[in-house]
Amino acid sequence: MSAPRRYTIAGAGLAGSLLALFLARRGLDVIVLERRSDPRRAGYVGGRSINLALAERGMHALRLAGLEQAVLTQAVMMRGRMVHVADGRVELQRYGRDDSEVIWSVNRGRLNMTLLDAAERAGATIAFGQRLGTVDFANQRVELNDEASGETREIAVETLIGCDGAGSALREALAKEIDLGQRFEPLGHGYKELEIPPARGVALERNALHIWPRTNYMCIALPNADGSFTVTLFLPNEGDPSFTRVVTADDAKRLFARDFADAVPLMPTLAEDFTANPVGMLGTLRLERWHLDRRAVLVGDAAHAIVPFHGQGMNCAFEDCVELDTLIAAGGMLEDVYAEFEARRKPNAEAIADMALENYVEMRDRVDDADFLLRRALERRLAERHPDRFVPRYAMVTFRRVPYAVAKARGVIQAEILAALTRGIARVEDVDLAEADALVRDALTPL
Ligand code: FAD
Repeated sequence: MSAPRRYTIAGAGLAGSLLALFLARRGLDVIVLERRSDPRRAGYVGGRSINLALAERGMHALRLAGLEQAVLTQAVMMRGRMVHVADGRVELQRYGRDDSEVIWSVNRGRLNMTLLDAAERAGATIAFGQRLGTVDFANQRVELNDEASGETREIAVETLIGCDGAGSALREALAKEIDLGQRFEPLGHGYKELEIPPARGVALERNALHIWPRTNYMCIALPNADGSFTVTLFLPNEGDPSFTRVVTADDAKRLFARDFADAVPLMPTLAEDFTANPVGMLGTLRLERWHLDRRAVLVGDAAHAIVPFHGQGMNCAFEDCVELDTLIAAGGMLEDVYAEFEARRKPNAEAIADMALENYVEMRDRVDDADFLLRRALERRLAERHPDRFVPRYAMVTFRRVPYAVAKARGVIQAEILAALTRGIARVEDVDLAEADALVRDALTPL
């Protein structure tokens, strides 16, 4: 069977619009069905995470799309974590060696609109206000619901790519056809977005991701280009404090006065924001299958929604787009292309899902802990002594494009080395460096 000419993508969010751009640029006929109205005309309706951390994997994809500079001009550099300790101390923990190893805070809406413009320029057609409904895989037809008129119509499709996010309608349709081996693991914690306006944001270091770690919960704040910060409060769903107990604006004011006191003067609309904004749920979606022969494949959050604590969901979704585009361009039977895409990406999606969960514990509980700081200091020292072998896991995930599964596996070995070398030791100066060098050379091949 010849390769399809027309690719129908469900969802013009971050992954859908980037993939549309890549495929249209190859001369393929691309139509994207997007449930929402065109954000460039109707205004962006986000619903979650106003800003996002963009790292090397995402940046690489944008570079390939010719959009790196356009996005960088909208972005704010974040050099490290600014940790707000409970006793009032504030300290910057750099992410990397220097300003070549940083992450970027980008506005979700602006990034999405930049991608939509570029996808259309490349020749993709984006049909807004069109929600994918049921799918008839046997006859290759889909039902579309027009969000404005409420009318329903059917269109023919050659192949479907599901970039329709964590609540994917295409995934739901596929699950009726085949066993996807779907598991959703709720985190048991939710989040709520709050704001520090530009006039108050001047009091905070702009080029950092701020964290208020409080053992079982935390607040973070990411800078925006206008000088404001978007604050995200993460709390368990049950217990004290939790979103079951911190419900009213007064509850929120009490929690902040007790646990995030230095943020309170910066948040004049805390009570209003807390009342107006919903609690978002978090969890990990794992699937055993991502595709149905040549008829459909899932990409991005539709295939592997993860918790946001490594700031990698979008970065991973962009990496998916690069991989799928490369495989489609290489040619061959589409069922083989989709199978290969799934085989290459699934182990990596599983690895970043696990690392993102681990990072939640690190961010809320470990970043101000003496043992953690000792290991971090030793990690930096070993990275300087063995730059080709010992690359901190955070750096492999964030500043390199080492497959996530490799980063996870090497991270386990590195953690064992750090644990062995710091056992019974309080200062990094006391570590036996000859022993450290031998351990590193023995256990880690050059990367
Ligand atoms: P989405 O961005 O969700 O896009 C899906 C699109 O499909 C939307 O436009 C939607 O309207 C459309 N759609 C849905 N259903 C239908 C339908 N039936 N028919 C047609 N269209 C449909 N990632 C990072 O890399 N860095 C971060 O710092 C980061 N922070 C985050 C913070 C929070 C609180 C959360 C919740 C997530 C965060 N993420 C982050 C993850 C990131 O948001 C997602 O991984 C990313 O948005 C996935 O892109 P996507 O295109 O797959 O899905």
